Amino acid sequence: METIFSRIVKKEIPAKIVYEDEEILAFHDITPKAPIHILLIPKKPIPTLDAAGPEDTLLLGGLLQQAAQIARDLGVAEEGYRLVINTNENGGQTVYHLHVHLLAGRPLGWPPG
Ligand code: AMP
Repeated sequence: METIFSRIVKKEIPAKIVYEDEEILAFHDITPKAPIHILLIPKKPIPTLDAAGPEDTLLLGGLLQQAAQIARDLGVAEEGYRLVINTNENGGQTVYHLHVHLLAGRPLGWPPG
């Protein structure tokens, strides 16, 4: 299914890309919820975390490893950050292409709203 993120993968619409390899793309969220708000997506269009299968295990691990690397590159690893995967309606998911939010740059409240 076509989503705004699959169109970003195909470079049909612009994004501020911070990392790209054969399987993963990372770019700035268009409406940041923290001073640093990056989205990491698999290029493969998996709609939700719930739709990921055992064949995606390496890809999911790669997304987390890359998120940690981006946090280090941006200099926020030591002070801390949060990774979020909103899943389906109650999880607050609005774009049905699996993505990891990397949020940093301010203290993040808990529990989330
Ligand atoms: P979620 O609510 O977890 O599905 O997150 C979707 C995120 O995508 C939101 O934080 C949006 O601000 C972000 N978003 C939507 N459209 C774009 C876009 N064209 N470029 C970058 N981020 C976007």
